[in-house]
Amino acid sequence: MKVYSFPRGGILYEDSTVPPRTSSVTAFLPGLSVIPLVQHTGARALPVVGVGDYVREGMLIGRGQGPGSANIHAAAPGRVINMVSWKTAADINNEALVIRLEGRFEKLGKKEDSFRWEGLSSFEIERIIADMGIVEMESGGTPVSDILSAFRSIPRPVSVVARCVFDDPWLAADYVLCRERFQAVVEGAFITARASRANRVVFAVSGRERELAGDFLTVHPPGGIEVSTVLVGSRYPQRNRRELELVLRMYEKKEELSLGALLILGPATLAALHDAVKLNKPILYRYVSVGGSAVKTPQVMKVRIGTRIGEVFAECGGFIDKPKRIATGSPLLGWTVVDLDEPIIKTSFAVFALLEKQVGGGPRRSCIGCGECRRVCPVGLDPEELYKWAKSAETPDAVQGRASECHGCCCCEAVCPSRLPLGKVILDSALREK
Ligand code: SF4
Ligand code: SF4
Repeated sequence: MKVYSFPRGGILYEDSTVPPRTSSVTAFLPGLSVIPLVQHTGARALPVVGVGDYVREGMLIGRGQGPGSANIHAAAPGRVINMVSWKTAADINNEALVIRLEGRFEKLGKKEDSFRWEGLSSFEIERIIADMGIVEMESGGTPVSDILSAFRSIPRPVSVVARCVFDDPWLAADYVLCRERFQAVVEGAFITARASRANRVVFAVSGRERELAGDFLTVHPPGGIEVSTVLVGSRYPQRNRRELELVLRMYEKKEELSLGALLILGPATLAALHDAVKLNKPILYRYVSVGGSAVKTPQVMKVRIGTRIGEVFAECGGFIDKPKRIATGSPLLGWTVVDLDEPIIKTSFAVFALLEKQVGGGPRRSCIGCGECRRVCPVGLDPEELYKWAKSAETPDAVQGRASECHGCCCCEAVCPSRLPLGKVILDSALREK
């Protein structure tokens, strides 16, 4: 099978401190769960329970308020014992309900009833997805019901793209999920196609995972839906919307197809959609890559939403030595964890703790003009120049226009020998001007 890769830039991102991609380990149930009211892009969900109330597993405890906001559910049964608030490293206020484990589980360990979705209308599926608070779990947490509504007004054809692209080793958890919950990922993609009235599902798989692509080739779609399996590059940032769309348009042209608008979702989100629509279940747990040089035994774990990050590290044997940096996401674009009591949320695909030697010590230096940042920028920008202007008081319009093309992949930053924070500064300057 031909591999479709974006034409320029990018990096082969490898990291020996990620967990092995063999199988997942189920984390202990947390005695206390901390369930934040913001696990999505928009406004905080409005709590519908208070301190002292008993909540059941999977019960609605926070109601989403408008676009960008999603419903929040209890991941385990128990008593609400507190409401806490804190400031994240990005200076954003968050609040959470603290639930002490108590009572019996209604879903865990029980035989699951499954519902037929084939007879549901797209509106009915969208309503279930909104009720269950399903968000994009591999990125910022856009509610999937918002994405589906946006696609309603887009002319057909539409293709759902299952983005099984592992260009970042910290996506180990997503890979293990694909292997362990293959049918849920596949059916989640077909449910999304029904909900968006798409006529095609494209399984986009990175070339390094040919065996996974082979499994997608055996899938039988329901009536009215076509299926394609496409091998794409493994270079980071292949899974970015821009780079993925670029290669899918190459495939479309080569195969003389018409893919139309692309509704792109990752495997964790697709499995969650399956659970919501077929099993009537909100997101109760997620697959998380736990690793980094400071962690004794890196592993892929299935962790209940609301489990405190400190407990997750403890289950991996704790730290070898004091970490220099703890964050969620990938080290390339991670979000700093200020306190180990912060919880795993719907979007925490990885959590890592790095020793000083992995963070890379030493002060930032001046640019030495090596040109590495230009070589790896997939958009063809000049990060050195954009960075210089972003730091100055006035930026010419032409330069500003170029900066707005930056999608913040941070390839430039990863290769800069002077350790300049190129990507973050350029992206911030572009956002400031919007
Ligand atoms: S962060 Fe922006 S400037 Fe840097 S490589 Fe990515 S797209 Fe190019
Ligand atoms: S990679 Fe860093 S040091 Fe090299 S040209 Fe770009 S900004 Fe300068």
